[in-house]
Amino acid sequence: MAANGSPLKAWTCEACGVQQTPSVTFPPRCPICEDERQYVGWSGQRWQTREMLTNSHRTQVEETHGVTTLVLEPAFAINQRAFLIPTDEGQIVWECLAAVTSDAVAAIRARGPVKAIAISHPHFYGAMADWGEALDGAPVYVHAADEAWLQRRPAHLRLWEGDQLNLAPNVDLVRLGSHFDGSAGLWWKTGPRRGGALFPGDAVQVSSDRRFASFMYSYPNHLPLGPKALMELRRRVEAMSFEDVFGFNTGRDMIGDAQAKLAASFDRYLRAVAA
Ligand SMILES: [Zn+2]
Ligand SMILES: [Zn+2]
Repeated sequence: MAANGSPLKAWTCEACGVQQTPSVTFPPRCPICEDERQYVGWSGQRWQTREMLTNSHRTQVEETHGVTTLVLEPAFAINQRAFLIPTDEGQIVWECLAAVTSDAVAAIRARGPVKAIAISHPHFYGAMADWGEALDGAPVYVHAADEAWLQRRPAHLRLWEGDQLNLAPNVDLVRLGSHFDGSAGLWWKTGPRRGGALFPGDAVQVSSDRRFASFMYSYPNHLPLGPKALMELRRRVEAMSFEDVFGFNTGRDMIGDAQAKLAASFDRYLRAVAA
């Protein structure tokens, strides 16, 4: 409750799906959408309360190429998916949805305890504080370089620094940068298939043909990365080994030989910007 007795509400931006620190009336603006890497919805800034979202959505749980994914149904905001990464020390929830629904919590609990939640970058902060609370106070990892973009701090926030963080056996967070300074990927070295996989958020965007990827500073506003930033991203991606890449939304999967496909994608991009 606020000092005057009015109930606080958790407001979520309709364009990016990021929840703000609760307030009585909706916030005047969304800093994430006003940034040049996102956009304010074409009908102006709009908000939904936590209750509006949970009453109108459920969570679709799917198995995709051996990995469990979660996505809100119907689609909402950027409509990213979350992934459940099983480890010997409990599950890692990679990425964050805009609302916590009871069916999602039940599906996660059915698969065992949760060790941590980790998120690639500010566009996918979603309802991170609600998720931490719903999953028994699980720590929420985001890269410290993006701290200024936090809209609501989870109770058990873990700001990580540097280029790599081991989260659990065979699962590391890797700083990719480029799109945001702190843009991170999750590197599952041993799964879901032999050879491992990279979950790069949208620092690496699996193209619609799923044979190539692209690399942009802003996807919605079509701002490309320059050659220097691209080479730095390439160095970071090529320091890992993986067989598959799982992109940010449903179906955006590069399955098999993904490292060679990304090498060809970096080459193709450099040719295009140099032409
Ligand atoms: Zn927003
Ligand atoms: Zn993004």
